[in-house]
Amino acid sequence: MTVQPNSIEARDAAYQLHSYTNARKMEAEGSLIIEQGDGVYVTDNTGKKYIEGMSGLWSVAVGFGEDRLVKAATEQMAKLPYYHTFAQRGHTPAVELSEKLIQMAPVPMSKVYFTNSGSEANDTVVKLLWYRSNALGKPEKKKIISRIKGYHGITVASGSLTGLPYNHMSFDLPIPQVLHAGCPHYGGFAQDGESEADFVARLARELDEMIQAEGPDTIAAFIGEPVMGAGGVIVPPEGYWKAIQDVLKKYDILLVADEVICGFGRTGKMFGSETMGIEPDIMVMSKQLSSSYIPFSAVMMNDRVYQPIADETNRIGTFGHGFTGSGHPVGAAVSLENLKIIEERDLVGNVARLSPLFLERLNALAGHDLAKEARGIGLIGALELKQQGDAAGTAGAAMSAACLERGLIVRNLGDTVALCPPMIINEDQVKEMFDIYAAALDSLS
Ligand code: PLP
Repeated sequence: MTVQPNSIEARDAAYQLHSYTNARKMEAEGSLIIEQGDGVYVTDNTGKKYIEGMSGLWSVAVGFGEDRLVKAATEQMAKLPYYHTFAQRGHTPAVELSEKLIQMAPVPMSKVYFTNSGSEANDTVVKLLWYRSNALGKPEKKKIISRIKGYHGITVASGSLTGLPYNHMSFDLPIPQVLHAGCPHYGGFAQDGESEADFVARLARELDEMIQAEGPDTIAAFIGEPVMGAGGVIVPPEGYWKAIQDVLKKYDILLVADEVICGFGRTGKMFGSETMGIEPDIMVMSKQLSSSYIPFSAVMMNDRVYQPIADETNRIGTFGHGFTGSGHPVGAAVSLENLKIIEERDLVGNVARLSPLFLERLNALAGHDLAKEARGIGLIGALELKQQGDAAGTAGAAMSAACLERGLIVRNLGDTVALCPPMIINEDQVKEMFDIYAAALDSLS
């Protein structure tokens, strides 16, 4: 890519520091500027059209250009563009959305707390857990166990929960209250000759040993994505979540399901917790909650979590936590309409119906010379490529560029190349996506 002086790409490089970007590379090469979206497609500023194989960032469930969401936003903007939820104030969209989410929850839940991003939601979870432990008179119960390769965001607390090196490097993370347990990637972490069942048993045993070594009374919670996303689309082996939950129950440790990617249908059921047989005490939701038409997120908690917190607010006199945008009326109205669309169009059913084709096409590439492993569930998947020489990520970046050239946007997480298309995708579009993906892979041989 050559950057023309004063072009939008040149101005982008001149004025913005971009997320997950090598700033020096960006200064030299510029960026891809997306102008418009329609359904599963987006168009760049030169008019080139792409299948958005990643739904933006795993999030635009209902696709681009959905008029119903535009209408929901504009109507709410006109009626009440902003109000807050501080100090016993409220507004109808936040009330209706909290009620809706409690009704949708796969296990009994008690209250919803609204935030604006997945990171803010997980940051809030850490604070809720600490607040609760203090409320219970257990000030030592503050540690949180997350997992190597888990992704929970990038604030000081949520970035600490994240178990990926580049989210910690030079940021002085993680904070000491966070511990990282083993990653349930059988293909990546199994020992020689270890069966899947043995691998699961070892992870559960190692978790038990970690808890005992730290002191069970010092651990507040375990947090995990039902299926790991940004860590490389890692679908845990059969029995993993049951084994983990058995350990947590033994020590009375809360379980937090980070549903930021899995939530609202991605794995073929409404929540990843249902797909994986998880019974969480806290659920974290964002992305497909509003289809990312507007930043929005939520933390849902059961009574075990809520009741001590409510008592503590009564003791102190207030709950000293809140974002100006918590439960923003436009975000809440858009999210409500988005959930209506997901239900009315049976998009969760669409994921379940198309998943066999999606996985068949993905798995067919596992035998390719350049491929190491294919992983997926529902409409989320990835192909891990063999590393090229010593340079981790080179193969993944080349594949991502080859897909882009051919009109498909994917996301390479190192050498793992992910696909997570909008849930409105149809059969022909799944085929079109994989035709491009396979041609891109062949072009690298
Ligand atoms: N949790 C999970 C599982 C995620 O995948 C992400 C983002 O990808 C986050 C949390 C953080 O969300 P955000 O980028 O909105 O802060």
